[in-house]
Amino acid sequence: METIKTKCLIIGSGPAGYTAAIYTSRANLGPVLYEGMQPGGQLTITTDIENFPGYPQGINGTEMMAQFKEQAMRFGADVRPNIITKIDFSSRPFRCEADNGDKIEADTIIIATGASAKYLGLPDEEKYRGMGVSACATCDGFFYRKKKVAVVGGGDTACEEALYLSTLAKQVYLIVRKDYLRASKVMQQRVFDRENITILFNTNTVGLFGEDGVEGAHLIRHKGTPEEEKFDLEIDGFFLAIGHRPNTDIFTAIEVDEAGYIKTFNNTSATNVEGVFAAGDVADPRYRQAVTAAGAGCKAAIDVERFLLEH
Ligand code: NDP
Repeated sequence: METIKTKCLIIGSGPAGYTAAIYTSRANLGPVLYEGMQPGGQLTITTDIENFPGYPQGINGTEMMAQFKEQAMRFGADVRPNIITKIDFSSRPFRCEADNGDKIEADTIIIATGASAKYLGLPDEEKYRGMGVSACATCDGFFYRKKKVAVVGGGDTACEEALYLSTLAKQVYLIVRKDYLRASKVMQQRVFDRENITILFNTNTVGLFGEDGVEGAHLIRHKGTPEEEKFDLEIDGFFLAIGHRPNTDIFTAIEVDEAGYIKTFNNTSATNVEGVFAAGDVADPRYRQAVTAAGAGCKAAIDVERFLLEH
């Protein structure tokens, strides 16, 4: 347990957090970065990143985040593996606590805590969590070699997960509630072209069944219409890919929008609390890309620098 004083506390270790750390450390602000629950953030549970400029052949997400971290540490960022659990936003310096008992006094804070996977809210998801239900194909796909799995969702994440799983599993079902995919055209085409992916359009999941783990899903096609049809699908794994929820639980004093994303003001990364800035997916309901998160981390660092100069 330590008492730490810093000009800039960065919470979160995705592209936004590490970019903020690179910029603030190069500006001699001696940033302290707490990695949080998922060191490296969401990119560590995705497959290859093909759209981050500078990597023409693509790069593995975990490898890319290790490089972000190395670059931040090269300039002296103090990266810690713990989780910030409490913050008093009522006066500056902000007083914070970490799960290992560290006490931190920070002149400014950059919140870069990202977002977490959403679930459908079915009691069966809880019942079978870790027993066939997962929100991370890269983490758990290995268990479903030569088996049957379903992925719920119609966005880029769902397509990416389905494609990844199709290289391991015998059969992949993509359960899509509308009659179209929302994913980018290139991802859609890859899914259409993959022989062992079957898309179930207009389909909703209402439950799961199985003795000691998932053995199948109860589905409804054309729910609420005259053609409504209930059927069961035999599967061994059920993967959620229906979007994310921003991680803001401990930031009760920080204003969020109706979907829970942190509000920023005046085209900057400033939040409603002076000296507190937000960057990346936690404050971005619209773009949510690694490259935009990195850009947002840079902006937050520059905002911090200016704020400290003015105060
Ligand atoms: P999206 O919000 O884009 O898509 C969510 C999908 O889940 C939609 O098809 C949505 O259906 C469906 N969905 C949401 N709630 C439910 C529910 N309760 N029941 C059934 N289906 C549901 O999220 P993603 O995570 O796919 O993508 C987020 C962002 O990240 C996007 O901007 C995406 O482009 C980007 N991304 C880019 C990648 C890349 O370029 N390689 C990879 C992954 C993500 P509906 O359409 O009916 O609302």
